[in-house]
Amino acid sequence: MKLYNSLTKNVEEFVPNEPGKVAMYTCGPTVYHFAHIGNLRSYICEDILEKILRYSGYDVKRVMNITDVGHLASDADTGEDKMLKGAKREHKSVMEIAKYYTDAFFSDCAKLNIKMPDVVEPATNCIPEFINMIEGLLEKGYAYKAGENVYFDTSKLKNYYVFGNQNEDELKVGVRDDVTEDTNKRNKNDFVLWFTKSKFEDQALKWESPWGVGYPGWHIECSCIGMKHLGERMDIHCGGVDNMFPHHTNEIAQSESFMGHKWCNYWFHVHHLNDESGKMSKSKGEFLTVSLLEEKGYDPVVYRMFALQSHYRKPLTFSYETLDQTVTTYKKLRNRISAVQAEGAVDDNAVREWHDKFAEAVGNDCNTAMGLTLLYDVLKSELNGNTKLKVIEDYDRVLSLNLLKKEEEGTVDEELRAYVEAKIAERADAKKARDFAKADAIRDELLSKGIVIKDTREGVVWSKE
Ligand code: AMP
Ligand code: ZN
Repeated sequence: MKLYNSLTKNVEEFVPNEPGKVAMYTCGPTVYHFAHIGNLRSYICEDILEKILRYSGYDVKRVMNITDVGHLASDADTGEDKMLKGAKREHKSVMEIAKYYTDAFFSDCAKLNIKMPDVVEPATNCIPEFINMIEGLLEKGYAYKAGENVYFDTSKLKNYYVFGNQNEDELKVGVRDDVTEDTNKRNKNDFVLWFTKSKFEDQALKWESPWGVGYPGWHIECSCIGMKHLGERMDIHCGGVDNMFPHHTNEIAQSESFMGHKWCNYWFHVHHLNDESGKMSKSKGEFLTVSLLEEKGYDPVVYRMFALQSHYRKPLTFSYETLDQTVTTYKKLRNRISAVQAEGAVDDNAVREWHDKFAEAVGNDCNTAMGLTLLYDVLKSELNGNTKLKVIEDYDRVLSLNLLKKEEEGTVDEELRAYVEAKIAERADAKKARDFAKADAIRDELLSKGIVIKDTREGVVWSKE
């Protein structure tokens, strides 16, 4: 397996710390609002990475945090707390907001066939862990108290700018209009570990700490939650490119200062989904969510396919026009698969061969477009029907595009449904009029189109052969 590593800026052979096992961490959502489909591009690509690793035989443990405290409007520790902002907007409590949007996030993930991580941990569960790490950083001289807050002292590190070579635009991503300079900071890039005093007197969630009642900064949560569930060394840490700086840079600074050794070997960053006017936003323009796509009649899995057609290290532009093209491609693909006749004995050697080809293709830095190309190669191949279906089932463990799902379970073709239901009603009328010849003719007509109907106590049910 080859993976681009943002630490070294090279595609490298992936070698985990422990043979056969992968400790993987994903920065989870800030649950103050719905995720937009840009956020979900990141989660789709991270899901694909996890599934490729599993497909290649690794035993993966994946951990994700839920940011329900500490993330301010600007990633640089200023502005209002995002959670508080969400609570005010909706006249609810912060915990109600957190619960509502956490559920909404996982419901979106389920619709996109994104697997649930093995461990999901909200930041508010881990206050003792945060306090422990901050105490350690103070003891070791990497942190200082100022203005009743605790800060990380970036001047203590030789190599703070691990991800500092990002271009200017990407560095600016987290910054919003309401940024004001924090005069407590000794160095420009120092960041808050613990707030006891912020300009928001109405901060909803606060905890006792050795430094007074307060709440944690944003970055500390990922270091502590990662360490809590994966130990002191992790293999892969994921997030969107906007997380590189300051979030991931700060995570590395505090984790490695606290532990005294290297923390994570591979950093995986997904590039942004943009709309035609530029960066995707929750507040400006159309707020593109999975629910909005559904309201407009799109199957969420089509958006997954849209994401898989491009490489995760390239920015992607969303438009309804390109999504419509993907709808057509997806429909054609599914039609070709449903036309495969289930015949012949499964050729296990061939299944293994095609499995290895796929592992190599997608294992080359998550080349999902190559994976899709191979899928078409399988359809074009000389394999018998049952072998093809087996290989497609195998590929769909990674692609997760419902490739073999029966229509009535997944994307029901509305035209077909309307036609069948009209025929069933016509047949019921014929039976009522005791015109059994007509009723049988309707059944045969449906059968000739591959539609089987059954009379049950609950009424007539139908399925596609
Ligand atoms: P947040 O909920 O703001 O903490 O973001 C959740 C995840 O989405 C993070 O990994 C971000 O880096 C990522 N992200 C934010 N905006 C985009 C975007 N437009 N395209 C892709 N990923 C994004
Ligand atoms: Zn994080």
